[in-house]
Amino acid sequence: MPTPSPVHAGLAAAFADAFGHAPEGVWRAPGRVNLIGEHTDYNEGLVLPFALPLGVSAAASRRDDGLVEVRSLQADTAVTASVSGTPGDVEGWAAYPVGMARVLHEHGPDGHGRKVGGATLLFDSDLPQGAGLSSSAALECATAIALCDLHGVEIAPAELARLAQRAENEHVGVPSGIMDQSASMLSSAGSALLLDCRTGLTSDVPFAPQDAGLTLMVIDTRATHELTGGEYGQRRAECERAAEILGVPALRDIKDLPAALAQLDEPVLRRRVQHVVTENHRVEATVGLLRAGAVAEIGGLLLASHMSLRDQFEISWPEANVAVDEAVRAGARGGRMVGGGFGGSVIVLTHTERADRVRDAINAAYESRSWTPPVFLTDTAPSQGARRLS
Ligand code: ADP
Ligand code: MG
Repeated sequence: MPTPSPVHAGLAAAFADAFGHAPEGVWRAPGRVNLIGEHTDYNEGLVLPFALPLGVSAAASRRDDGLVEVRSLQADTAVTASVSGTPGDVEGWAAYPVGMARVLHEHGPDGHGRKVGGATLLFDSDLPQGAGLSSSAALECATAIALCDLHGVEIAPAELARLAQRAENEHVGVPSGIMDQSASMLSSAGSALLLDCRTGLTSDVPFAPQDAGLTLMVIDTRATHELTGGEYGQRRAECERAAEILGVPALRDIKDLPAALAQLDEPVLRRRVQHVVTENHRVEATVGLLRAGAVAEIGGLLLASHMSLRDQFEISWPEANVAVDEAVRAGARGGRMVGGGFGGSVIVLTHTERADRVRDAINAAYESRSWTPPVFLTDTAPSQGARRLS
């Protein structure tokens, strides 16, 4: 077993303070960034996320009274609930770990007849919440691996990702796809995770920008445009309508783009289809370049993705466009908006020696517009998925 680092020793000590006995172990699951493949998931296409060094840690010990007790150093409320309860009776942050425990419990015995039961868990995190880095999946996945280990239950990581998605869908009520939990459970250090959202199949794609003298920055633009909350559902509906008109199960199935566009009368639907079809190709092209070791070259594809999201899918926002434009002007290889749109973060790929120049250019552009200063995250080296630390 790996030696605990001071951080994990600190969490174990906090656990002992809170509960009066030492934890049996410490587990950790990372947050993620999606490198490319935006709004392709619900069109049954391809995504390419990778795990961050930042994540959620859980110190935990088993209990045999059928209860799950959860606390977090980032939350005020402590919750104790039955592991066999139904969705809805636990609210707030605790719904994620308690929901995860319940889904695992329901899943039933593994091949050895062992089943997940109760536990006491204390969480700590260095991952910002609600920033699009998927702290929710990290919380679920840290819980899942801790509970399986404590109860000696063997469930394959890909299945655990599906169960974590179910916990979020059914016990928290968030209709998320499978990307976040897959990235948190299945990622390898120095790789991105190619995920086919139709088949659920995954494969590792080498991605270690730091080894190529590059930095992938995640920039929180600090912009939220709450008035446009319905746009995500609207885009999904437009994609479904286009697929129906074109007679395909999902936009993923379009092979002949010009022929598909010619069949669509509405310009809006043509733009949406153009984005989704070309974005899937961009994921494949990115994978090809990364497998060839040409990391810097993916910058152009990130930019093409950004322009497509801005002009065809029409979900970018001014702060994202300025950040990407300024980054390129300052010598970055490329960048794009990430996430649902109308607020959130941008990623930028730059040679590391230009990272300061890129940051200064973006800061200056925001300042001249009197915008809230953006927040830069540069500790983004692609990292290992959920694992036991001690
Ligand atoms: P994201 O996954 O992008 O960070 P979500 O809204 O999906 O945003 O998930 C954030 C929620 O997850 C928080 O509001 C909180 O309920 C829960 N959460 C994440 N990390 C922690 C933590 N360390 N402690 C307690 N709750 C957490
Ligand atoms: Mg989330």
